[in-house]
Formats: sequence, structure tokens, C-alpha cells
Amino acid sequence: MKKVYLDNASTTPLRPEVIEEMVQVLMNDYGNPSSTHAFGRHSKNLIELSRKSIAKNLNCSGQEIIFTSCATEANNFIIQSCIRDLKIERIITSKIEHHAVLHTIQILQKTYNIQVNYVNILDSGEIDLVHLSHLLASENKTLVSLMHVNNEIGTVLNLSRVAKICKQYQAYFHTDTVQSIGKIKFDLQEIPIDFLVAGAHKFYGPKGIGFAFIRKGIVLNPILLGGEQEKGMRAGTESVHNIVGMSKALELSYLYLEEERKHITELKEYTISQLEFHFSGVKFNGNTKDTFYNILNIILPFSEEKTSMILFNLDMKGIAVSRGSACQSGSIKPSHVLAEILSEEDLKKPSLRISFSHYNTKEEIDYLIENLKLL
Ligand code: PLP
Repeated sequence: MKKVYLDNASTTPLRPEVIEEMVQVLMNDYGNPSSTHAFGRHSKNLIELSRKSIAKNLNCSGQEIIFTSCATEANNFIIQSCIRDLKIERIITSKIEHHAVLHTIQILQKTYNIQVNYVNILDSGEIDLVHLSHLLASENKTLVSLMHVNNEIGTVLNLSRVAKICKQYQAYFHTDTVQSIGKIKFDLQEIPIDFLVAGAHKFYGPKGIGFAFIRKGIVLNPILLGGEQEKGMRAGTESVHNIVGMSKALELSYLYLEEERKHITELKEYTISQLEFHFSGVKFNGNTKDTFYNILNIILPFSEEKTSMILFNLDMKGIAVSRGSACQSGSIKPSHVLAEILSEEDLKKPSLRISFSHYNTKEEIDYLIENLKLL
């Protein structure tokens, strides 16, 4: 059966060069990085070279990069440690954050009795920055946690503007950049973000590895206690092959950024035009001109009874798309993101997230359209 993978916001396939590099490490570099003998020192060196390479790609210093098991852990680490160590009294966030942020904040709100303010969402799915400034005007010690690219609808936050607003009000700024790292250039000398996170499997790297960026001068304590790995910031034997794979994946993503972005942008435009041509009444969630180039979230003009089976029917044809974030695929619960921006009526209709990679082709889009027409 033909297989068409259009769920790249959930995870991406690995680049072959990344696999090659990881296999080399798995076969040859098995020393524990904490061991003082040559095997260990060699593994440690690979980790430090990877850290430097990641830091160079983001224009920050290696000391500011802490390896974690995934982006969820990095988000948890930053948010939990900020509340505990920086004595944060209030968090400003939004209701359309990934659950890795939203649920963490909701639990911590109860544990530490902190104030949580949700910034308004505009109809386009974008964050209301005027409301953010209003909220920041009160004088509590605040952490602002707002994602860069929304994983469901692809809306983009203006990071420079938000970072500047946060500086103006002396608030810390954490941003979940899981959907954008490796897909857009970052210059952390230019933008005064305090914390950001990434997960390698979103940029053609391995699963089970991510990192936190913590701006130099901010002192956080670890949440995982034990050994002295990561300068005591994150205990546990490092996953050397995953770290090397992540650094290679990031390097290649930035090396091929322009050509891959161009290909994906054209593919998204082609998909929009085909959908508009074949499905009169199709709607796009978020403003398609401004949403991130690899994410397209649509409402199909189908009847309610077709809604529940749509993912299943596409899956039967070998097509992978998503209804929202991966954990909700196949569930009948509406996405918490769409629930914030859609009317009751539109929420009942089938929304699909189509997310592209440079491996996708126009033929694959034609196959998707053909099968949507058969539903
Ligand atoms: N944040 C965003 C925006 C995401 O899209 C995801 C994954 O879908 C995560 C955090 C969590 O990533 P992971 O499950 O790899 O920890």
C-alpha cells in the first residue's frame, strides 16, 4: 500500500546522515562519559563537541545548553525550577500552549499557590500582545511562558517583540520552540529570551533527546538529582548517540534550511490551492499567510457523521495526518487549541492538521486530495 506521511509536526523521519553518525557512536563510542579512562573521555568529548555545535547554530554559548531526555522534560525543568529558585509569584501563559507547558503550570499553580494569568487569543489564533502588556503592568515577579510556533495551527509568536516587552517589565521569558528550532534561524545574542526548549525528533533527529537553553547568569537547580552530569544540572548518564544525532540533525537542518523551506512552502501553497479547488467551503484555521510554513490546519466542509471516521479512513489508505497534537489523534475530545478559537459549530466539523517535510511531494498531496474526495 502507498504510504504518505503528512504528520511531521508530531515527529519527523531521521535523516540518513544522522542515522549513519549515530550508528558509528553506538558501535564504537560506548564509554561512559563520566569515566576518566580514554573510552569515557572520548564519549565526553563527543558530547562537548555536540554542545558547541548546537550553541554555534543558535549563536549562544555551550554553557547555556543543557541536554534532557525530551522537550517535555526541558519545559518541566525550566518552569519548575523557575518557580522554586527564582521565586516566581506569577506565570503568564496562554490556553493554546502544548500540554507539556499547560499541564505543568496547572499542577504547579496548586503546589506553589502561584497566580496564573492567561493572555487573550485573537480570532486568528495569535497572542494578543496588547493584553500581554496590560497583564505585565502589575508588579509581581513574573515568568512569561509562550510558545513560538503553535504545534496545531502553526501560528507564530513575534519572539523579539515579546522578549522586549518582558525586558521592559522585568519578567523572565520562556518559550517552547519545539516546532521552530531547526526550521528557522535563531540568534540568541539578538533576542533576549531567557529560556527555550527543543526536541530532536521534530527536526529529523532521534527521539528521546532534547535540550534546554538557559541564559547565562540565571541560576536554576536541577529537578533530576543524582550524579554530576551536565555540570550537576541534570543527573543521569548521557545518551551519547542521541546527543551526537541531535547535533548532526540540527547542523544539517540549518545547512539545507533555505532549499527545504522553499520546497515545503511551495507544497503548502499547492495544498491550499487544491483544497480550495476541490472542496468549496473549506476553511483554514489561523491566517494561512502568517502561519508557519510546514503546518496547515483545515476544516473540511463535511457532515458530522464523516467527522469521527476521517482519520481512520485516511489511515486505511496509508495517509498519516493528525487532528491536533499527537496524543489526541483518534480521540473524540476536541483539541484544546481549536476549542479556544473556533465556534461550537466549526468544532463539530472535521479539522485536520497536515504537516509537511522536505521529503513530501506534490504527488503525495494529489493522493491525499483524491482520497479526501472519496470520503
Ligand atoms: N512542545 C511542543 C510545541 C510540541 O509540539 C511537543 C510535541 O509534540 C512538545 C512540546 C513535547 O515534545 P516531546 O513529546 O518530544 O517531549
